[in-house]
Amino acid sequence: MADIRQEVLKGVKKVVIKIGSAVLTGKDGLDLQIIDQTVDEISYLIKKGYHIVLVSSGAIASGKHRLGISGPLKNLPQKQAAAAVGQGRLMRVYSNSFGGHDIYVAQILVTMSDLTDRKRFLNIRNTLSTLLEWGVIPVINENDTVSVAEIKFGDNDNLAAMIANTVDAHLVINLTMTEGFFDGNPAKSKNAKRIPLIHDITEDIENMASEEGTAAGTGGMKSKVLAAKKVTAYGIPYIIAQGKKKGVLKDIFAGKDVGTLFFPARHPLNSRKYWIAYTLRSHGKLTVDDGAMNAIIDSGKSLLPSGIVDVEGDFTIGDSVNCLNLQGEVFAKGLVNYSAEEIRKIMGLKSTKIQQVLGHKDYDEVIHRDNMAVTASKKD
Ligand code: GLU
Repeated sequence: MADIRQEVLKGVKKVVIKIGSAVLTGKDGLDLQIIDQTVDEISYLIKKGYHIVLVSSGAIASGKHRLGISGPLKNLPQKQAAAAVGQGRLMRVYSNSFGGHDIYVAQILVTMSDLTDRKRFLNIRNTLSTLLEWGVIPVINENDTVSVAEIKFGDNDNLAAMIANTVDAHLVINLTMTEGFFDGNPAKSKNAKRIPLIHDITEDIENMASEEGTAAGTGGMKSKVLAAKKVTAYGIPYIIAQGKKKGVLKDIFAGKDVGTLFFPARHPLNSRKYWIAYTLRSHGKLTVDDGAMNAIIDSGKSLLPSGIVDVEGDFTIGDSVNCLNLQGEVFAKGLVNYSAEEIRKIMGLKSTKIQQVLGHKDYDEVIHRDNMAVTASKKD
């Protein structure tokens, strides 16, 4: 097994490490000893030449403790206010700890809308690559104080997945409270066993993951597996491991059997298609017949009006839209060349009819293949 892991680690240089709130905090707020321990290991990796991007939770948990609030925070404004208090403290702790290794830290706070806007996405990408060139460690968190439901990543597992795409990472490590991915919920069943290697994130694997998070964090194993699915779809391996364990990062990089390694997809999406599939929010649905679906999945074809059987939603040109098969399963997502209203008029028709029906025809395709990201697996 060590050989397989070493093979995956070969050539890895740029790594996104995500640390959950439950790892970083104890009953007295931020757990400084764990933070120092993790920072020691990350600094060792940086000195060895790895480029590390840290996605760190812990702002809300730290702020809540600092303010002496016991019991759960009641609502979103309370969480946002606690994050505003805790984020500064979090950065000070990282800055002191990395400072002991002569490494500077940079705070980056982002919202979902920063990454769905292609221009801002590219700006963040340039900033991050400059920081990495300078040997500075970016510490990224969601900008909780301004994030409302529509612009939230949901949790930092998802944020780390999107950052992996932003920086073109070679590996993502999710440091959490369990030893890896288990075939059951280890908190509830003694018989649950860690799965060391996962080649494909099948429906069975997804169903094994529990949605329950910890008291401090928001995720749960479900959100980690969904994040792993996104990251591996982009061709990046993903590791879930126990973050409080001393030496965990060194062991991972030594290729030891720790945590769960999810292998990269055999047919990865390129950066832009990944962005379409996983960063952009879908504005509607196009249901297509089997012939059109197979042409898209197996032969990389564009979506033509003739293959469309139903349109849902109210979207306009350039919006991203999910493509569903006749069973209602999403298999692709793409940017449309026509509005929902126009597609309702031309669906089922040959492209040669578009001009006659709409009075104009800018494209033969409803979604061009260059703007189409296939998310279902292709038959090998
Ligand atoms: N952004 C939140 C915080 O720093 C954490 C979100 C999460 O744990 O997923 O407290």
